[in-house]
Amino acid sequence: MRIDVVTIFPEYFGPLDLSLIGKAQASGLLEVGVHDLRTWTHDVHRTVDDSPYGGGPGMVMRPEPWGEALDALAPEGEARLVVPTPAGERFSQAMAHELAGEPRLIFACGRYEGIDQRVLDHAATRMPVTEVSLGDYVLFGGEVAVLVMCEAIVRLLPGVLGNAESLAEESHAHGVLEAPVYTKPPQWRGHLVPDILRSGDHGRIARWRRDQALLRTAQRRPDLLAALDPDILDKRDVAL
Ligand code: SAM
Repeated sequence: MRIDVVTIFPEYFGPLDLSLIGKAQASGLLEVGVHDLRTWTHDVHRTVDDSPYGGGPGMVMRPEPWGEALDALAPEGEARLVVPTPAGERFSQAMAHELAGEPRLIFACGRYEGIDQRVLDHAATRMPVTEVSLGDYVLFGGEVAVLVMCEAIVRLLPGVLGNAESLAEESHAHGVLEAPVYTKPPQWRGHLVPDILRSGDHGRIARWRRDQALLRTAQRRPDLLAALDPDILDKRDVAL
């Protein structure tokens, strides 16, 4: 996969060289290009914003540098454009899977009051465009949202995680939250690891984890439980 990010703060993306995303790049599973939007400005102040038509507070990102950036990065429209915005579709594990299936993504980081809408409308005439919200709150800019999305997407790429089984049982893999996890020592500050996890009985452990996952989901995210496909529940799940 190739990911390009356009931003006025390229320094934000140092973390993409660290940890498993850095390793994915080093091993050739992932290519990342981070680009300064001001590269595509032509005035002495390298201006990227202007006052909004119709009045109101704040500034809006001008279309010209964005248009040139997208022309340069995807001249044939050979990428999917992802634009973080609080007005977008909510990001989810399902969307991370969908985006992980794309060979090329371009992320456009907005600042100020956002990017002139015509940039997105024009881009949509030549490539798929997806406006994505991280959640129902407002950040200063799209950079942190893009880091979050990159991390969620890249860990789904085949070969990135040392043990791909980690993906199978984690929270949101099957619409429920993961059961609590424990490691050594068996007793810590008066708190014990549940006996069953030390029993060696893999069948009972799997059942316990499933029960815990469902109970946690019911307590913390009843919305997820309500959306579960009833066909994946067995008799004991229903009894819980
Ligand atoms: N005026 C915009 C609105 O009310 O929808 C908010 C602009 S916000 C201050 C500046 C930029 O931060 C946005 O263009 C977007 O890139 C990013 N941003 C802010 N909140 C976000 C969120 N919840 N999800 C994704 N991106 C967000």
